[in-house]
Amino acid sequence: MKLIDGKEISQQIREEIKEEVAKIIDSGERPPHLAAVLVGEDPASETYINNKAKACKKVGIESSTYKMKDDVTEEELLEAINFINNDKDIDGVIVQLPLPSHIDDYKVIQSIDPAKDVDGFHPVSVGRMSIGLPAYVSATPMGILQMIERSNIETLGKNCVVLGRSNIVGRPVSILMGRNGYPGNATVTVCHSKTKNLKQITSNADILIVAIGKPEFVDGDMVKEGAVVIDVGIHRIPSKEKKSGFKLMGDVKFDEVGKKAGYITPVPGGVGPMTIASLLMNTLKAAKKEIYP
Ligand code: NAP
Repeated sequence: MKLIDGKEISQQIREEIKEEVAKIIDSGERPPHLAAVLVGEDPASETYINNKAKACKKVGIESSTYKMKDDVTEEELLEAINFINNDKDIDGVIVQLPLPSHIDDYKVIQSIDPAKDVDGFHPVSVGRMSIGLPAYVSATPMGILQMIERSNIETLGKNCVVLGRSNIVGRPVSILMGRNGYPGNATVTVCHSKTKNLKQITSNADILIVAIGKPEFVDGDMVKEGAVVIDVGIHRIPSKEKKSGFKLMGDVKFDEVGKKAGYITPVPGGVGPMTIASLLMNTLKAAKKEIYP
């Protein structure tokens, strides 16, 4: 079994981005610039935004955070996004989700200029990705593809089973694995909560991507010998053994499945670290106008 090390791969990507950003600056241009919009004071959201800002700084990308109060109106938030859309010195914008319940997440996402939609959640980005046009791909599916590509895993003609059909992971990754390209050209089956004979389907998978949101759901019996297993799940489980009081686990029983798999991603240290690296990649693409020349 080979471990797909998300920490190491994401570090490689960050180094490459740092070099590219340095070249941009050396050529006399301003650094890429990511704007983040944060509504309210949810500590988890603040941590995510701070981590994204720190990651930007480390590779030379400029970042700014637009903090808005919990009781901001939808109209005020849309105005702020419009302001960022029109700021020529900002290349990419992300809105930290979830938003307070009086604000319609999708209305806000749709107000982002698709050319600056580095989170890849705008319906235009999703549509472009779906029909094979250059597009911002959202962080988790892009991170998964990078792991597959950088581990030189063959995907052409393989049976790929995706467990889960969410808009942020399962659905986009299933479209990408089935597209005509690399990684891609796999024969993809998407499973969800209404799928019958799940074990029969998963145990036929050459590549099994699990984004189901259930701790250790996938066991050794559900996996074919030699399969590539990508575990997207992440759960904080209370644990007396850990100083922190909890341990992290995925949607896959790592010890059992690891014995059968050809490749497997660990949790933590697998898909998780790839997401910020993917956001940095998209911000660089935005600055270089790769998607919308
Ligand atoms: P989600 O929106 O809850 O979707 C879960 C999917 O799994 C749904 O499509 C659901 O089917 C399906 N499902 C649930 N129970 C099932 C069952 N018993 N059999 C078959 N399918 C079943 O989850 P998500 O947002 O995609 O996230 C999935 C996991 O990945 C979570 O643990 C999340 O924390 C983690 N995650 C990690 C990262 C990262 O950076 N590592 C990023 C995003 C998410 P229905 O559609 O029929 O309900």
